[in-house]
Amino acid sequence: MKRIILYFFTHLFVTCALFGQNTAVSVTIAAKTANFKKYDGYFDYYWDEASGKIWLEIEAWDTEFLYVHALAAGVGSNDIGLDRGQLGGSRVVKFHKVGPKVLLIEPNYGYRAISNNPDERKAVEQAFAQSVLWGFKVEVQEGEKVLVDATDFFMQDAHGVVQTLSQRNQGSYKLDVSRSAIYLPMCKNFPKNTELEATLTFTGEPKGAWIRSVTPTPEAVTVRQHHSFIELPDNNYQPRVFDPRSGYFGIEFLDYATPIQEPIAKRYIRRHRLEKKNPNAKLSEAVEPIVYYVDRGAPEPIKSAPIEGASWWNQAFEAAGYQNAFVVKEMPADADPLDVRYNVIQWVHRSTRGWSYGASVYDPRTGEIIKGHVSLGSLRVRQDFLIAQGLVQPYENGTTPDPRLLEMALARLRQLSAHEVGHTIGIAHNFAASINNRASVMDYPHPLVELRIMEQWILVSLMQ
Ligand SMILES: [Zn+2]
Repeated sequence: MKRIILYFFTHLFVTCALFGQNTAVSVTIAAKTANFKKYDGYFDYYWDEASGKIWLEIEAWDTEFLYVHALAAGVGSNDIGLDRGQLGGSRVVKFHKVGPKVLLIEPNYGYRAISNNPDERKAVEQAFAQSVLWGFKVEVQEGEKVLVDATDFFMQDAHGVVQTLSQRNQGSYKLDVSRSAIYLPMCKNFPKNTELEATLTFTGEPKGAWIRSVTPTPEAVTVRQHHSFIELPDNNYQPRVFDPRSGYFGIEFLDYATPIQEPIAKRYIRRHRLEKKNPNAKLSEAVEPIVYYVDRGAPEPIKSAPIEGASWWNQAFEAAGYQNAFVVKEMPADADPLDVRYNVIQWVHRSTRGWSYGASVYDPRTGEIIKGHVSLGSLRVRQDFLIAQGLVQPYENGTTPDPRLLEMALARLRQLSAHEVGHTIGIAHNFAASINNRASVMDYPHPLVELRIMEQWILVSLMQ
């Protein structure tokens, strides 16, 4: 009797197991996604209108790519520091499958062994932590290809809004999923980059004046966060060794395969890839010029100033042997400023004046800049106008403003644009230029004001 019962249960188990397997195999990706909208591109994905979900197709296992997130729509407070267009750093990641799980793994490029010996490489890989950024569940599998529900990944607080609001003493907030959704107008897909965006609402008790001042209902702070999966560049880029005298930003890692008599720390500068069409010519056009695009949201006569200022860099590239290799244009109407294919000078509004900055998406393996992104604070030009107003008596003879006010403000904006673009093409500050005839735009040059005692008053010359 015992044998019969045992047989019965064994048989039942096998039947269940087979039934389970059949169920998984019988659903194809095509069947599962039949009613979804497909976005073809670097990683194919689907929008499921009925459930509001994003389904991601993965078949390139253990293949590294770049993951970048950014704040597409910000909070608008310079003091809080959550600005429109703010980049969130560049990470090399890869998908790895284990049974029903898909892990998004970030390898550790801070510690390497650049060696042909796999054992040396393994010794370093196993010595330092990696980071698994997310775990997905396989919903459908077809051979090597799987479909996962990636909605929660794209609707997470990747940019750390909760943390920033807490650190700035603005209150304790948490993500409210019921008030958050995928933002379809900025969900796009291209052969080398996959772009997704989500509207996220953070609810909580506001404690600070800054968050109250910029949010219609401070108990609910709604922003948008953008995610990009980007194909890594090919291996034809030649990294350039960092030298502190070069004035460049750099990347640094330890290479445990370094010969013992050499420094273990390796440093490369950050720069765009640039190759001459004619490598033997002293002056040559570039195979692919570096193009920067200026935000269409800046009004004239403002918009022309950052275009002109950023264009000054063409002189530097020409001195280095490149003709027309650095181009600045207005952003195309249908382009997304967070799309990795565009170097952007963005015109960013906040409730108060604040600093501008330049950041880059770069390949953490080599330092190659993939996208430059300048954030120009819009109130700065108004502040400069007010400074100029304070220096002269512009309304002495009636109501017409003195044209020098605008001239000075735009001159400073040209300089600021050149300065921030300098950062996004990899160059650090050069404060030594202050005592070298103000020779570098990478300095913080103060307005050069010359006082001349005239018959009636003081004439101010603004030299920038
Ligand atoms: Zn700077």
